[in-house]
Amino acid sequence: MQVHWHRRDLRTADNRGLSVATDAGPTVPLFVFDDAVLAHAGAPRVRFMLDALAELRERYRALGSDLVVRRGDPREVVVRVAREFDADRVVWNKDYSGLARERDAAVRRALDGADVARESVHDHLHHEPGSITTNKGDPYSVYTYFWKKWRDREKADPYPDPDEGALAAVDAETTGDLPSIEALGFEAPDATVPTAGTAAARERLDRFCDDAVFRYESDRDYPTRDAVSRLSADLKWGTIGVREVYAATAAAMAEAGEEKAEESVAEFQSQLAWREFYTHVLFFNPEVVTENFKEYENEIEWRDDPEELAAWRAGETGYPIVDAGMRQLREEAYMHNRVRMIVASFLTKDLRCDWRHGYAHFRAKLADHDTQNDNGGWQWAASTGTDAQPYFRIFNPMTQGERYDPDAEYIAEYVPELRGVDPSVVHSWHECSPLQRRNAAPAYPEPIVDHSERREAALSMFERARGED
Ligand SMILES: Cc1cc2nc3c(=O)[nH]c(=O)nc-3n(C[C@H](O)[C@H](O)[C@H](O)COP(=O)(O)OP(=O)(O)OC[C@H]3O[C@@H](n4cnc5c(N)ncnc54)[C@H](O)[C@@H]3O)c2cc1C
Repeated sequence: MQVHWHRRDLRTADNRGLSVATDAGPTVPLFVFDDAVLAHAGAPRVRFMLDALAELRERYRALGSDLVVRRGDPREVVVRVAREFDADRVVWNKDYSGLARERDAAVRRALDGADVARESVHDHLHHEPGSITTNKGDPYSVYTYFWKKWRDREKADPYPDPDEGALAAVDAETTGDLPSIEALGFEAPDATVPTAGTAAARERLDRFCDDAVFRYESDRDYPTRDAVSRLSADLKWGTIGVREVYAATAAAMAEAGEEKAEESVAEFQSQLAWREFYTHVLFFNPEVVTENFKEYENEIEWRDDPEELAAWRAGETGYPIVDAGMRQLREEAYMHNRVRMIVASFLTKDLRCDWRHGYAHFRAKLADHDTQNDNGGWQWAASTGTDAQPYFRIFNPMTQGERYDPDAEYIAEYVPELRGVDPSVVHSWHECSPLQRRNAAPAYPEPIVDHSERREAALSMFERARGED
């Protein structure tokens, strides 16, 4: 008997660890609610996870088995379940963050102590950390070179879904109930969390590959053009496998026909590679979760202004595109990538607030929070990360809004106070007089800062930190 320990691979199809386990014999699927992991979670993410687990359980039931659910310290629980089912081996898919690796090392020791074999396999990325390196064998800290190697490497095919006979029959009495979100210590999120599970992920993938993937390059930066896949929470929770996603893009590439459409598909693949690049960075530098990647930036004198931070969190900064993004986050537990870049730049450059505050807020509110991407995104925006935005390139939130949401449609969707206001007024809100603002949208706030002044102050802050002052 084998046990497959699910963690962030909440699917049966294209699951390498599950395939490895089922190839060796009947397999008991297991999920463990670990309070040490839940301590870092936010309600939207937990909601998505619970919904995905409910679907996974249904899938196993349809295959004549069931998902065994336990709560506790995996060092004890995994060993106990292996004994309970008389399993000779426990298999899982590797996870690459520092915390996950510490947990897995501890479980390995516990299983060794209990004389249960174990195997952890690489599933979550196409190319494992350490497999794409510079010619000297070092991990890349510049994405472009990483991407070229990533792109040219062969990609594995998806692993098949297990057959019914490959899974162990599990007595309904022993499976354990899926807890409610409240029982896990969270309040139900206010946000409408995306539908979770493999069926929903496949629907998103199919829909994207039917159309948007061919215009991804030109449209992906425009939040109203419906040009992105919305697969981030699926990739975070593994409700769909990376090989399955890649295979769909390879099929789209074969159908693309025109060079522009092919470039667009490649641009999407390069986003999948960013996810892997940041995972490699995190693997080799686990400290980036709390520390700046660039050491020389440790001298940055971040400001501490609780009121400004609160206005940013609430989407009440008086900068319409920033507020729309922060409210999309609140309502959908998701934010469009271009807007994530804008709100992160606003927090770190205009408000000169430490990126760690932004990261913590995103971690609590995003259904797709994924340590490596969230951290990579924040350190990029703060100019402290690998391959980061140079500190002197500071987004102007007004021109960003005008360029990427020219008709202010995205803004109107999330900021009702600005509905019906002429887009030219919306995009020049910072320049309007108090009277003009009162007349146009009395309920919408005045800008909390002056961007031009804050831009100069941010440049000085970075120059001082770099010893260039
Ligand atoms: C400040 C900040 C925080 C972010 N936090 C997260 C996070 O917690 N989780 C997360 O998955 N992404 C994060 N991103 C990256 C990106 O914004 C999201 O992956 C993307 O918006 C998700 O929407 P999508 O699935 O429709 O993306 P698509 O454009 O359809 O991209 C497909 C997939 O590629 C990957 N991807 C796309 N862009 C990036 C990127 N810049 N870096 C790494 N991977 C990428 C994601 O897995 C994404 O699902 C963050 C970006 C910034 C600037």
